[in-house]
Amino acid sequence: MKVTADRSRCMAAGHCAISAPDVFDHGEDGLVVVLDTEPGEERRREVELAEDLCPSRAIAILRTAAVAGPPDAGTPDTPDTASAG
Ligand code: SF4
Repeated sequence: MKVTADRSRCMAAGHCAISAPDVFDHGEDGLVVVLDTEPGEERRREVELAEDLCPSRAIAILRTAAVAGPPDAGTPDTPDTASAG
């Protein structure tokens, strides 16, 4: 998952750093700092809690669609250079 925090909305309430201290902290100005913008799934519950508790809705979890692998390229169209005679 990817996590963002909009510092222009943050009001330094501090719930995020308490809920997910490995992901959020505060700068010297008291506003949120994202420590880990791509936390592992093991952090999902605490990050979602931080998102829910943030009074200014500054925290967002970016839900990305599953990434499909590259399409099957098949066999390249190369001329047959072998000569039979
Ligand atoms: S919970 Fe929201 S308002 Fe409070 S410090 Fe974190 S981002 Fe800022």
